[in-house]
Order: sequence, then structure tokens, then C-alpha cells
Amino acid sequence: MSLDLTYFAATVSRLLQIEPPALAAAGVAAEVIAEARSVHAGAPVQRLLVYAPDAIGVHLADRCTADFALIRQHAPVEVELYSVMPSITPVCFASLFTGAAPSVHGYQAYEKPIVRCDTIFDALLRAGKRVAIVTVQGSSIDLMYRERELDYFSEQYDPQVTKRALKLMEADKHDFILAYHQQYDDLLHQTEPFSAECLAACRSHAAGFARLAQAAAHYWQGYRYALAVTPDHGAHLDKATGRGTHGSDLPADQALKHFWGFGNPA
Ligand SMILES: [Zn+2]
Repeated sequence: MSLDLTYFAATVSRLLQIEPPALAAAGVAAEVIAEARSVHAGAPVQRLLVYAPDAIGVHLADRCTADFALIRQHAPVEVELYSVMPSITPVCFASLFTGAAPSVHGYQAYEKPIVRCDTIFDALLRAGKRVAIVTVQGSSIDLMYRERELDYFSEQYDPQVTKRALKLMEADKHDFILAYHQQYDDLLHQTEPFSAECLAACRSHAAGFARLAQAAAHYWQGYRYALAVTPDHGAHLDKATGRGTHGSDLPADQALKHFWGFGNPA
């Protein structure tokens, strides 16, 4: 049975040993749970950094081998999964954070309304966890998960997101930090998925994650922590326009790998 984005909410809940959000599917990524058990001996994860690079799908794996290797260095557990349909950002992240299929959570278009369904953020808050969402201003994540008792940081662009997330890890006032980057997605729509600009953006995303992972190793020394890299969908070349696009059920749009790593034995 293949996983899709809905595995995430149940998996995070299991790792932190909290009640999952109301709509979350039951399926977890078994390899992630097994690795957590082996590193942390069954004790709950105390700090989680989720890095969500927009549109970094498996379509890039052959072109960006060094970047994927860098991600794996810090987050070696690989989960193969599929995006949901339509494979567009607001729909995919709604499935990631609610744990539910689009037909269940109801957000199925390129719109950015506030998600009123129960999400992993709500589940974390109910369990007394302190949550920070660090995103690019105006992005779907920035707008759709508002009106919760958590700390929102909407930044100018990816580098400011990284900087803010690093500061938050240093300050150590959050149990869960979500950091979102969008440069690759922005550029694929302006050029094509494997343009020089796009490949440079992929490199920036991997490097950004590596910096965050190094900061976790440094600032979270006293905690059992986990790192997750959770892109939303891939992309393909639209031959009609000569530019990149996504949203279809092509494997290039749908095939994903998520990466997980665990720090500090129990
Ligand atoms: Zn996206």
C-alpha cells in the first residue's frame, strides 16, 4: 500500500505521543516510527523541525543528486509517497496538516481560505506544545492556518525564513517549528523545472535545510528531536507554454520523498 501526504499528521502525533487531529487518517510511516523507536527507545520526541520546500518532488532526484544526498545526511529515513489531487500547494498542505484527503477536508482549489478543520497545529496546541509557523508572506501556509494560539512569522522570502527559524531554535521557546521555502516553485512557473535557476533554487533549499539541521544538533542537544523534510508536490514541463507546472496526476507531479532524521538517544 502506498502512502500519501495524509500519513504526516498521524506520524507526527505518534512521535510526540499526542492525540492526532480529528480527521487524520490512521496510516503512519512505519519506517519513521521504527527509527524513532530505535533512537529514542520509545520515549516521545521533544522537539520537531518540519522543513517544507515547495515542489521539491522526486522529479528532481536525478538532477539534484548532491542536494538530495545533503538532505539525507541529516534526515536519512526516506518515505516514498504520493501527493494528493489536485497536486497544488494549498490542497497538498491542507492534507499534510489535517491528515485527511481533499474530499474530506474540503480544500480542493487554488484558494487560500483559513482552514477550519482540525489540524496538527490544533492537536499540538491541545497537548500543550508551543508551535511556530515560519513562512513567506502571502504564501498559502502563511494565510491558511491563522487564528490559532501559535506564533506566526511571515517573512519576506526564503533567506529570512531560514534566519528566523535559526533564531527560534536558539531561543528555544517552541516545541514544533515549521519552516516553509518557495523559491523553486516560484522559478519553475517562470522558467522550466530543470532550468539553471531552478537547479540553483533546489541547491538553496537543501543548503537551507542543512543549516537548520546543524542548528538543531547544536541548540537541541538536551532534547530528543526529530527533523522532517516534507515537500507538497513535484512538477513537470508544460509543452504548450514551455514553462513548468503541476496539478495533474502525472508521476512527476505526484511522486514524493519525505526525509526524517532523529537526534539524541534517549
Ligand atoms: Zn507547492
